[in-house]
Amino acid sequence: MKLLKFTKMIMTANRMRRACLFLLAAGMLLPATAQLKKDVIESRIRALVGKMTLEEKVGQMAQVSIESLGSIRNGTFVFDSGKIRDVVIHYKIGSILNTPGLQNVHQWDDIIAQIQDLAKKTRLGIPVLYGLDDNHGVNYVADATLFPQEIGQAATWNPDLAYNCGVITAYESRAASVPWTFSPVLDLGTNPQWPRIWEDYGEDPYLSSRMGVAFTKGVQDPLGSPEKLAVSLKHYMDYSDPKSGHDRTDSWIPEYYLREYHLPSFRACIEAGARTVMVNSALINGIPTHINHHIITDILKKELGFTGFVVSDWQDIENVYRRDHVTKDIKGAVMLGINAGLDMSMIPYDYKEFCGDMIALVHEGKISMSRVDDAVTRILRVKEELGLFETPVTNVKDYPKFGSPEFEKASYQTAAESITLLKNAKQTLPLSRDARILVTGPNANSMRTLNGGWTYTWQGEKTDQYAGKYHTILQAMKLKFGGDHVLYEPGVSYNNSGRYSDDSIVDIDAAVRSAGQADYILLCIGENSYTETPGNLDDLTLSANQLTLAEAMIKTGKPVILVLNEGRPRIIHRIEPGSAAILDIYLPSNFGADALADILTGEVDPSGRLPITYPRYTNSLVPYIHKPSEGEGNPQGGDYDPQFRFGFGLSYTTFAYSHLALDKKVYGPGETASVTVVVTNTGTREGKEVVELYTSELVASLTPDVKRLRRFEKVDLKPGESKTVSFSLAMKDLAYVNPDNRETLEAGDFKLQIGGLTSQFSVDKTVIY
Ligand code: BGC
Repeated sequence: MKLLKFTKMIMTANRMRRACLFLLAAGMLLPATAQLKKDVIESRIRALVGKMTLEEKVGQMAQVSIESLGSIRNGTFVFDSGKIRDVVIHYKIGSILNTPGLQNVHQWDDIIAQIQDLAKKTRLGIPVLYGLDDNHGVNYVADATLFPQEIGQAATWNPDLAYNCGVITAYESRAASVPWTFSPVLDLGTNPQWPRIWEDYGEDPYLSSRMGVAFTKGVQDPLGSPEKLAVSLKHYMDYSDPKSGHDRTDSWIPEYYLREYHLPSFRACIEAGARTVMVNSALINGIPTHINHHIITDILKKELGFTGFVVSDWQDIENVYRRDHVTKDIKGAVMLGINAGLDMSMIPYDYKEFCGDMIALVHEGKISMSRVDDAVTRILRVKEELGLFETPVTNVKDYPKFGSPEFEKASYQTAAESITLLKNAKQTLPLSRDARILVTGPNANSMRTLNGGWTYTWQGEKTDQYAGKYHTILQAMKLKFGGDHVLYEPGVSYNNSGRYSDDSIVDIDAAVRSAGQADYILLCIGENSYTETPGNLDDLTLSANQLTLAEAMIKTGKPVILVLNEGRPRIIHRIEPGSAAILDIYLPSNFGADALADILTGEVDPSGRLPITYPRYTNSLVPYIHKPSEGEGNPQGGDYDPQFRFGFGLSYTTFAYSHLALDKKVYGPGETASVTVVVTNTGTREGKEVVELYTSELVASLTPDVKRLRRFEKVDLKPGESKTVSFSLAMKDLAYVNPDNRETLEAGDFKLQIGGLTSQFSVDKTVIY
C-alpha cells in the first residue's frame, strides 16, 4: 500500500517536473511555476534520499580525480575498466574531476558518456557530476575559446564581458558534457606576493562582486538549460592574503575584516544564485578552513542561506591531518571536515579510505545521519537543478558555436578592453604603421606567457604546443607592421627546465645591435606561467636578467615600450623612468597579442584600468584600501606612493569631468543618493572611460579606510561628446563591519569623489544592522 502511494507520488512528481521543464524551455516559467518546480525537485530528492543506503550516500559525497582511472593511448584517454567500475558501480562515487591530459570536445563527450552509462547501471541510476577548472574559458578542452585570465577581465571594468565569458564557458563546457565549473575565483588580490592573484578579479570587494556576479549569471542562468553549468565560488574565504605571501598558508585576520573585505563578493554571488562553493585550502587564524564550522556552516549555510553544496579543495581533508597536524589520522580529519559542513570531499585518490572512514564514523555516532542526509540532499539538488537526470550527456552537434569566430571575437574584445596603458610619455603611442620595431624580451614569442597557468595543463607549460595556431606578440607584430619592419632578438629566455621563474641571458649585445636599426623597442617582460605552490616567489622584483636587458635597451636611447605580461605586478621602479611607454597586458590569452598590436597602431584605444595596486617597492605592498596611518593622509608624514594606483589607466584621448551633483546634502540611513556627473571626451579620438565613484568616511568609530570604490561605469565617447553618468548610491552600502561583526552605518560626513571632482554629504543617523 505504502509502496503504491509512493510510486504514485513519484509519477505525479515526474509529470509535474516534465511540465515545468517544458514551460521553462518555452520561457514561460512564472515565479509561481518556478516555486512549483523547486517543490517538485525537493520532493524527488526526499524520495531518493529515503531510498539510499549509507554506502550510496557516502559515495555521493566523494569526488575522485580521473587521471588515476586510466591512461592516454594514442592521444585518447582510455579508462581502466576495472578501476572506473570500482569507482562508479562499486563505490557509487558522486563526482569526478580533472583533466586526464588534453582531450578534444568529442573525446570529452565520450569520456562522460562512459561514466554516465556506468552510473545508469547502479541501483538508483544517479548521474555522476563531472567538474573542471575553467579559469579562463574551458581551458582543459582542446580548441575551446580561451579568455584573458580573471585579472585581465577585471581590468576591463566591464561586467558585460565577464558575463559573455560565462555564457561561452558554459556553452563550450556543456558541449563537452561537463556540467560543473570550479570558477569564478573570488579571492581578493590584495597581496601581490601570493602566486594566484591573477586568477582573481583584483583587490577590491566591489569590483570583484560585480565581475563575479556577471560571470555567475552568464554561466548559470537559467540553470537546467543544456547550455548551462553550476559555478563553484572559490576559495571561500580569505585564501588570498596569507601572512607569508605563499600559497596555502595561514592568514591572520579578525572576523570583522573577513566580513568587510572577503565575504562581500561571495555573498553577492550566492544572492545571484551560485550553486556550489569551494573552501579555502589554507588556514585562517591557525584553523584549517576545511574544519571551520563557523565559516562553513554558521556564515555560509545559515547566515547567507546557501542551499547548494560545499566542496573541499584538492586533498584538503587529508591536509588537516598530514599538513596541519590537527588530527592523528585521516579519519579524524574526515570527521572534523564533514561536521564543519563540507558536503563533498575532493579526495581525490583514496576514495576507499574516505568511504570506509565515513561509514565507520556514522556507525560510531561521530557523524550524524542527518548531517549525511543534508550533504547528500544538497548534492542531489544541484544534480537535479542542472537537469543531469534528463541530460547526463550532450551531443557535440548541438553546439555548433564551439570554438567559433563569434566566440573568439568575444575573447579578443575582452583582451582589447583589458590592456592598460600606464605610461605614454610624449605621446609615444600609437605608433605609425611604417615604424621599424625591435621586439625583444622573454615574453615576446611565447603563447605560454600570454596564457599563464590553467591553460591546457595545470601549470600551462605545454601551451606553445597546443596554441600554435594563435599569435605570439612577435607574430602579431609582424602581421600588423610587416615582417620587414619587425626585428627580433629575445635577449633573455625562460629556461626549459628548473623552476618556472628561471631565465637566462641569450644575447643582449645582439639585441642592442638590432636596436640600432629600429625606431622603437617593444620590450616584452614579466613572468612565465605558474600557479599555486609552484608559483611561490621570494622576490617580487623583476628578474635580474630582465632588468639587465631593460637597462641595456634604455641605454640605446631608442624609445622603449615596456609590455608587462605577468600574473603579479613585478617591481619595475628601476626601469620605469627610462621607458617611454608602459602597457600592462596581464595574461590576455590567445588573442592578447592581436589586441596589443591593434592598440599599438591606435586602431583600438586602450581602456583597461588597474584592478590592483601596482607597487613601487617590495617593502611597500599596501593596497589602495588602507587606513590613513598606512600612507595617504597620515599627519605624521606617512606616504603612499605605489608605482601605479588602483583604477589607473590612460587612453589615447583625454576625458574631463564636470557638474558632479548629488540630489541632497543630508540622507537618512534608508535613503539612496542620486549622483550625476558629466564626462566629456576632450581629445580627438573615440575612447572608453571608466567612471569610478569612491567614498571616504571622514570620521568613524572604527578607523575608516582612506577611500572605497562604491560604483563604476564604463562609457564610450566620441571626440567632443559628453555624457551624463548617473549612479544610485544606497546609504546602507556605506556601512562598515564593526568589531562586534555588525554592519554599522554611522552618522557623519562623507566625501564623494569621481574623477578629480569631490563633493560632501552626510548621513543623519547611526544604524547598527
Ligand atoms: C586548486 C583549486 C582547483 C582544484 C581542482 C586545487 O589545487 O586550489 O583551485 O579547483 O585544485 O583542480
